[in-house]
Amino acid sequence: MVGKVPVGGGSPITVQSMTTTKTADVEGTLQQIYALAAAGCDIVRCTCNDQEAAEGLAQIVPRSPIPIIADIHHQYKMALAAMEAGVHGLRLNPGNIRKPDHIKAVASEARDRNLSIRIGVNGGSLDPSLYEKYGGLTAAAMVESAMHEIAFFQEVDFNLIKISVKASNVPLMVEAYRMLADTTNIPLHLGVTEAGPPPAGLIKATAGISTLLLEGIGDTIRYSLTADPVEEARAGRQLLEALGLRERKNVDLIACPSCGRAEIDVIDVANRALAAFEHKKLPLQIAVMGCVVNGPGEAREADLGIAAGNKRGHLFVKGRNVAVVPEDEMVEALVEWAEFINEHGTDAAIARADTKLAEREAARDRSQLMDEKGGDVNHSAEKIVEIRRTVGN
Ligand code: SF4
Repeated sequence: MVGKVPVGGGSPITVQSMTTTKTADVEGTLQQIYALAAAGCDIVRCTCNDQEAAEGLAQIVPRSPIPIIADIHHQYKMALAAMEAGVHGLRLNPGNIRKPDHIKAVASEARDRNLSIRIGVNGGSLDPSLYEKYGGLTAAAMVESAMHEIAFFQEVDFNLIKISVKASNVPLMVEAYRMLADTTNIPLHLGVTEAGPPPAGLIKATAGISTLLLEGIGDTIRYSLTADPVEEARAGRQLLEALGLRERKNVDLIACPSCGRAEIDVIDVANRALAAFEHKKLPLQIAVMGCVVNGPGEAREADLGIAAGNKRGHLFVKGRNVAVVPEDEMVEALVEWAEFINEHGTDAAIARADTKLAEREAARDRSQLMDEKGGDVNHSAEKIVEIRRTVGN
């Protein structure tokens, strides 16, 4: 347990992030923690790097909506101070707290207080003797560092441990976690460290974290982005929802990539829909499709969708046409229908609609578009004839 949040042992995968404020700035840090919790963060880490930070934690902990973990580097005394402040867990870096007596002092105190500790091995701060032994940074070196540290904890009979073996290199990180999962069944905290700014950082973190999660490895995750930490929490939450590992809380907006057949600017409508749903907690899948020819069929699994055709938006619920609205009212209509579905369900939405009329209208626009543009929107048959003529076949 990290405070009231369970980690490992089959509990839901949790999202973590870390504040970027000075921990001594109590109000600023709490503001960020509230924003993180609203974006889907389950557990938050704050640095505890000096006495002021520890004193700040004493005021932050009782007002935080989610459990707090103190991040400790180098100074084991800061771990003791953070525990005194009432934090729910600690993160220690074995690369920079090396004296066994210090580690054991922290572990004994945590054991007495029933607090969990994450042993956070980091590729960038591995013990130099392990670099030497393995001839550089390797998965085996990181796993050995974690297991070596765990032995100190076990000596004082402390078992509330999580481990991470983060690296900025994705294949290395994946290999290290796989090796660790084969070595121990201690809960694992996943992350690609120093992933960098989005979008590349998002891609790297997603590549590493999701590969492992899909193999059943990992109990809690963090996106380490060079960005507002709210982005980290949002990304973590969205990943878990996309992988079906956490219940959907927010709209899953799907949209076609658009093509020559599109009747609207799909990117613009999808972005406006995304903005309109951003703060509405609607656990629905909603589709924005560029044309009524293929849209409703391709997005028939969505709870709700809209497809453009002949300057009109064709709304559909679970693939059934339910209404037709002017093109410039597409986003407003989506919001209105989404709120109705959230409250009453998709069956009630279909029941309240004149589906026969909506289907007739959609069929009319569909066939008009087919007549105008044909089944071959790129006129490929004519083009192929032309190409053959040009190259002389
Ligand atoms: S739904 Fe229509 S516009 Fe969108 S990609 Fe498919 S065919 Fe193209």
